[in-house]
Amino acid sequence: MPELPEIETIKRDLEDIVIGKRIEGVEVKVAKVIKEPRVEDFIKGVQGKEIREILRRGKVLILRVSRQYLVIHLRMTGQIVYSDKQEKSKVAFLLSDGKYLNFLDQRVMGEIRLLKDWQELPFIKQMGLEPLDKEFTLRRFQEILKGKKTKIKPLLMEQGFIAGIGNLYAAEILFRAKVSPLRCADSLTLTEIEKVYSAIKEVLQEGIRYRGSSVDTCRDAHGEKGNFGERIKVYGREGKPCFECGNPIKKITLAGRGTYFCSRCQK
Ligand SMILES: [Zn+2]
Repeated sequence: MPELPEIETIKRDLEDIVIGKRIEGVEVKVAKVIKEPRVEDFIKGVQGKEIREILRRGKVLILRVSRQYLVIHLRMTGQIVYSDKQEKSKVAFLLSDGKYLNFLDQRVMGEIRLLKDWQELPFIKQMGLEPLDKEFTLRRFQEILKGKKTKIKPLLMEQGFIAGIGNLYAAEILFRAKVSPLRCADSLTLTEIEKVYSAIKEVLQEGIRYRGSSVDTCRDAHGEKGNFGERIKVYGREGKPCFECGNPIKKITLAGRGTYFCSRCQK
């Protein structure tokens, strides 16, 4: 499932590829992907419009087309791929350079909307801080953790507190900080809070630098895999030796999600 680094990678790719290009037409092959407006109005609404700007909020990608916004939520298996041809796309945008911007989605859980004010969408309004923004300070992070009886890992994934972290990066962040995913958020010492805070910034930035991970179906805007996968320390490594201590990596279920960690390194 794409998280902040994967979406940011797609955003940066699209900035180079599609800004200034017009959407000549759009083919909607699976209507349920278009959440609003109605499919006919959606098609009319985007046709002939120029792509002016690419934005990201949490795990959501936003394309400004003239005075409206295309809000794309990839969810589990969604992909946005720029290509010479239509791939197995659920929605295909034909651009003024003769190429396509394909929306692919194996499990068809992704959502596309066209609207005037993306910031008013309820799931956007409810989002918490952007972890790579200046506003996300150590003090704000301390406030988020204060008095929370929730385990630290599900808390990091709670989009209402911090936007953009999912299962993979939460596991990697906690490994880097040497904090167990099972710890209650308000039990962390100041030193541990500082370590987790730094790890959030470092791991996400590293994820972007290596163009995201490609676990499952995550791909960049060219349909290529990212390189962060080679740098993963715990996610998906059940039973394999920890890179730091050699102990086998454990997998447990926590808050309904598969959770990987090293029980020797992470306290
Ligand atoms: Zn270890």
